[in-house]
Amino acid sequence: MQRIDTIYINGQFVTPHGEEWFDLINPSTEEAIGQVRLADAEDCRQAIAAARAAFPAWSRTTKAERIAALRRMHAAVSSRAAELREALITEYGAPASQAGWMVGFPADAIAASIVALENFEFTETAGTAQVIHSPLGVAGLITPWNSDAGFICNKLATALAAGCTAVIKPSELSAWQTRIVTEALHEAGLPAGVFNIVTGRGDVVGAEITRHPDIAKISFTGSTAVGKQIVRHSAETLKRVTLELGGKSPTVILEDADIATVVPMILQAGFLNSGQACIAGTRILVPRSRLGEFESAIAAAVRQIRSGDPRQTDSDIGPMVSRQQWERVQGYIRLGVEEGASLLAGGEGRPDGLHRGWFVRPTVFTDVRNTMRIAREEIFGPVLVVIPYADDAEAVALANDTSYGLSAVVLGADQQRAMAVARQIESGRVLVNTLAHEPQAPFGGFKQSGIGREMGRWGLAAFLEPKTVLAGC
Ligand code: NAD
Repeated sequence: MQRIDTIYINGQFVTPHGEEWFDLINPSTEEAIGQVRLADAEDCRQAIAAARAAFPAWSRTTKAERIAALRRMHAAVSSRAAELREALITEYGAPASQAGWMVGFPADAIAASIVALENFEFTETAGTAQVIHSPLGVAGLITPWNSDAGFICNKLATALAAGCTAVIKPSELSAWQTRIVTEALHEAGLPAGVFNIVTGRGDVVGAEITRHPDIAKISFTGSTAVGKQIVRHSAETLKRVTLELGGKSPTVILEDADIATVVPMILQAGFLNSGQACIAGTRILVPRSRLGEFESAIAAAVRQIRSGDPRQTDSDIGPMVSRQQWERVQGYIRLGVEEGASLLAGGEGRPDGLHRGWFVRPTVFTDVRNTMRIAREEIFGPVLVVIPYADDAEAVALANDTSYGLSAVVLGADQQRAMAVARQIESGRVLVNTLAHEPQAPFGGFKQSGIGREMGRWGLAAFLEPKTVLAGC
């Protein structure tokens, strides 16, 4: 049993002032696996004070000193990969077959921020002026439960690379992963107060970060609904905000696509992270001329997908993170049927043979119109919708007919044609005949998928303010 009874403030593990205990549940078994004592607003204020006190010295460190610190963080986090893997599978239900990239994400994110820092010019000239990119101050970093350790390391490494100090508010649902990563970061030996980690409730600790006048910048990854609250509340002190929010990403299958080749990619993109991924490709746009052929192929392929015990290497999809998330997904499957869509695969309830755990049947709806709620709202589970279109122009129109714009996939035999479609899609990222990721490229959303960008020089610049200096003689 995990008993997590400390938070991390000013370089030390301390007992929180907050007294609430939160149960950690294994979503595969519904059994308690531990408890975490949650921080409260007072703990958060102490963490902010520590980060504020550490800011002047950290903001004056040299690029070389920050790179050295980030390298120590990278080594420390890399050394905890085995523990992190265990926590990801037990606490969060990540399938062992797919846990690899999630285990590597924290260290990879730190490595990417080192590259961005090495290449970043903090001083430029503009006409007769010098432009000095200066760190904003104390950053509040708020992360979701999916890939918790990766988001913590990505945001923290970028903030520190820029010369900011940080207060991190991870999700209470992923306290075990947070503990592993906090211990690793402590071992990296950074100056006290440079980073502080306070696990607590969003409406308590998160809200305090959002309102506190000593927080200059918020970097948030989570739902669009909470992102909007953060903008509202942080407006009072005009904080800079970066928001990485939800999505309803289209996967466009062009008329010349080879169905046998693209179906595995479609399912990989759609069921990524058991469907609990912001970038999951959940709206599949299919040429009407090839709809029947596509429906048969995807139905057959989904029958081969296993949703079950994440420890079994042949499980493709693990459980939903919590009962609440499971019920939400079940509600959307029910809604799809009520809206008149047809089930090609899956449906309500647990997969055959499973009687406990928050497992969902991998589900694909067809006869879907883009106006239906199952086509417009983020479900955050393994539920895909198939929407037919007449020609490339209609495919683009449907792809863009969404309030989101985080990611998109275009699949087709003619690369030029696929690229032409990709260029018209309103999305922070478009993948053409690939599911690859480029950590040096900007990542973020158009429309209600977010504000600003993470990764690369764009991510670094989001923690900096340009200062123009003109000198007379
Ligand atoms: P969430 O919005 O419920 O919570 C995210 C974080 O915000 C948690 O730490 C939570 O405690 C905190 N929070 C909640 N209320 C708050 C408030 N009032 N003030 C400040 N903080 C508050 O999201 P979740 O359920 O943890 O994660 C799933 C969501 O995250 C999905 O919508 C998904 O698309 C999104 N997401 C986006 C990305 C991306 O990069 N764009 C990546 C992963 C997940």
